[in-house]
Amino acid sequence: MDPKRILLINPNWTGIQNQKQRQFKRLWPPLSLALAAAMMERQGLEVRIIDNQVKGHSPEKIGLLAEKYDRVFVTSTPYDRWQCPSLDIGFFFDTLRHISKDKLCVLGSHVTERPEAILRESGARAAILGEPEQTMLDMACTQYPDDLERIPGLAWLDEGCVKKSADREYMKNMDALPYPAFHLLDMKAYHYFPVMGKSFGILEASRGCPGKCNFCYMGMYGRRVRRKSVDRFLDETEWAVRKMGLKNVYFMDLEFAINKRFVLDFCQGLEDRGLILNWCCQTRVTDMDEEVAQAMAQAGCSLIHFGVEAGTDRILKQTGKGILVKDCYKAVRLCKSFGIRTALFMNFGFPGEHDYEMEATIKLALNLDPDYAAFHLIVPFPGTALADNCGLNPENFPAHQYPHYNFFDHDLEKLKRMLHQAYWKFYLRPRPIFNVLGDMLKNSQNMLFK
Ligand code: SF4
Repeated sequence: MDPKRILLINPNWTGIQNQKQRQFKRLWPPLSLALAAAMMERQGLEVRIIDNQVKGHSPEKIGLLAEKYDRVFVTSTPYDRWQCPSLDIGFFFDTLRHISKDKLCVLGSHVTERPEAILRESGARAAILGEPEQTMLDMACTQYPDDLERIPGLAWLDEGCVKKSADREYMKNMDALPYPAFHLLDMKAYHYFPVMGKSFGILEASRGCPGKCNFCYMGMYGRRVRRKSVDRFLDETEWAVRKMGLKNVYFMDLEFAINKRFVLDFCQGLEDRGLILNWCCQTRVTDMDEEVAQAMAQAGCSLIHFGVEAGTDRILKQTGKGILVKDCYKAVRLCKSFGIRTALFMNFGFPGEHDYEMEATIKLALNLDPDYAAFHLIVPFPGTALADNCGLNPENFPAHQYPHYNFFDHDLEKLKRMLHQAYWKFYLRPRPIFNVLGDMLKNSQNMLFK
């Protein structure tokens, strides 16, 4: 009998909480699972998504729910963490514990990078490597075990040895993607608090990034930028606003403004269609100029996330980011002048980074004075240039855990103190306090009454 009932699971991220690295408090829909679900529904399959971040089911309950499905797909990495995956995925293995192994397929950044270790540990029938949606659809529609070799982008164990099918090419035509199956998710649950309120969702116009940042994991996207056409993306945004009722949207492209023509046309299109939408995005500081900032502000962009990464040109150069400290000043200043708020990501603990350079990172955050700043410890995720350069051997780590404590030549305790200092110094000032309190007040009302 052909498989008909398909279950997609986004695990509960207890692993992220265990890392004790501060996150903006957020609950975002698993976009890639919603896209795969929409593709499966197009083929007449019956699909359910369990976002266990929302549901919080126990592994036993997940196992029971999974019983009536023919295929079960579980991701180690939601779409919004593809490039910076969680380092402890104990929560992922917990989720799998009671699911029958012969119907189980796993996917995500960790699975892509270490399929053999994860297949052995999980007992899953197949691992989906790289960009997942088309491979998930093929797996949902196929009879296995016979067809595995014919589906590109898979790994599996055959009599104890790992086997792989041909590589899956990245999707070329982004316009061919359906709109995400948000109707299968409890959209009322999602938010980006306190930065944005409810009626929240994430959308993407493009995938890929040509950047060469040595800490960024690109195995799920590839470097070549693939983009929806402006009209197609405007249609999708209009559908999300008018049909799905979204009022707050994060356009989650890795670099939303990398193509100036696209972003100007998109902003103009939002205005022409009268779409009233509070939106944010992430992009590189070098993508910003006056024309872009003005167009984005006019079209409802209220916040931009920038990866500022480090406080000195020496460390920035070492990361391969291709930006300078002065570019960060320019971008943040431009945003402020057009009333766009900013959120900056900064890291500590790069190889060979001196104490005074880390202090320069804190100083830069204070001088730039964005609305939000998030500080993290840099870690070499397997598959990144940073991991390769420091000779990291993932096989030295268990399948569920990535190198939390591989902080090069640094003292971890000192780095943690630096991290705390950064948060204290940044947020214990009148402007950030009022700013965060103001957002909490505004957006908690939005959350209470929606
Ligand atoms: S600019 Fe760098 S950090 Fe940002 S997505 Fe591209 S490679 Fe990753």
